[in-house]
Amino acid sequence: MSRMRARKATAAREGFSGSDAPALQDLMRCVHCGLCLAHCPTYIELGLETESPRGRLHLMRAVSQGRIPVSQNVVRHLDLCLQCRNCQAVCPSGVPYGQIMEETRAEILRDGRRAPASWLASRLVLRLFFSRPERVRYLMTALGLYERSGFQGLLRRSPLLNLLPDPWRNLEQLVPRVSARPFLARGVVGSPAHGPPKFRVALLSGCMMPYIFGQVHEATVRLLARHGCEVVVPPEQVCCGALHLHSGDRQEAKRLARHNIDVFLAEKVDAIIVNVAGCGAAMKEYGQLLKDDPRYAKRASRFSALVKDVNEFLAALPLSDGLGPLHQVVTYQDPCHLAHAQGIKVQPRALLQAIPGLELVEMSHPDQCCGSGGIYNLTHPHLAQRLLRRKMLEVAATGAQVVATANAGCALQLEAGLRRYGLSGRVAHVVELLDEAYQRGSGTP
Ligand code: SF4
Ligand code: SF4
Repeated sequence: MSRMRARKATAAREGFSGSDAPALQDLMRCVHCGLCLAHCPTYIELGLETESPRGRLHLMRAVSQGRIPVSQNVVRHLDLCLQCRNCQAVCPSGVPYGQIMEETRAEILRDGRRAPASWLASRLVLRLFFSRPERVRYLMTALGLYERSGFQGLLRRSPLLNLLPDPWRNLEQLVPRVSARPFLARGVVGSPAHGPPKFRVALLSGCMMPYIFGQVHEATVRLLARHGCEVVVPPEQVCCGALHLHSGDRQEAKRLARHNIDVFLAEKVDAIIVNVAGCGAAMKEYGQLLKDDPRYAKRASRFSALVKDVNEFLAALPLSDGLGPLHQVVTYQDPCHLAHAQGIKVQPRALLQAIPGLELVEMSHPDQCCGSGGIYNLTHPHLAQRLLRRKMLEVAATGAQVVATANAGCALQLEAGLRRYGLSGRVAHVVELLDEAYQRGSGTP
């Protein structure tokens, strides 16, 4: 066999062949028009075709057709993608970029020899901790002790921190503050104060949310109850699997999805409410994820149809009376998985603008990624920092006292940005501000 034929045969063997492989017809939908390039954060920062959606689609198609192998170079370009889906939102050909990238990562990860060490490590950590609610609890308890014992302050003030490798230093700066009062309530957690409920809804509590943003859950429950909902938190729910999906672990994401489908559908609710954009996007796609599963395909579609982001759900209702004034300048950061994956941009703004006294000042690019990208800010600290710096310059230009958003990862990244660049102000979820306005309206401090 000639050398060229041998090379081609090897490349073909290395193409995509697993059950989760991206479909060639999806890859072929890209007509190379380049309209997405100006919206891609990695292309904007690096200016390279290989770091653009069009370039990455070229690479994925070439691998899929067996024309090139999954080399380290190919993986590096795919790995640098934030999976923010900004390209997907503007693509006139409807290329399902997010799905293609998740499937491609799953294909590469399927054969451990082709996957970079960081992907294998992410899969291990996500399976070890995020997949198991009881282990998340241990992890959060340990983190809370680290923060409250004074060891964190000591480390932050000591020169030791600068000796740590970049990813570890970055991790330390992004470490979330563990709430002393986590949201661990289960079962029925909220009901309308007057009259029978109009809706029965289930709340996704999530893996980390209860420990680091328990107050967002509390605000969500109060708002839902105020708007006529009986709110239930299914006790047996598990992590939604969004981070697993982004990291290419579709197998584990499917296991978690099946479990959540059983648990949530058993509650017979009118809607499944999610207040974290990344989780909501993943859950709205359970139908697609399990479309080839004969036992779950139908139920997964039914489940996905019930999923509503909290902004989406509340903005569709007439807001109840009683909003008090909140005299603050607020700017809103669109979470990528709310704006681009779920197409929800108007609703959070409408809720903010309903608050008397609140002045909404837009950044120049509110729907550009802040660099959070799931765990991207840990795996790619340098590029994530460049994106964060760009974001903070835009925030500073608005003069806002509050940066509103609707995703836990973005909130952590933005808080780290305010600290790093010495900006005053705070980060808040849209529902926290809305709830605060109702509290003021009712005279509650
Ligand atoms: S992904 Fe869409 S917008 Fe980007 S080059 Fe292809 S067809 Fe054009
Ligand atoms: S998902 Fe985001 S980073 Fe990745 S190619 Fe699309 S726009 Fe660029």
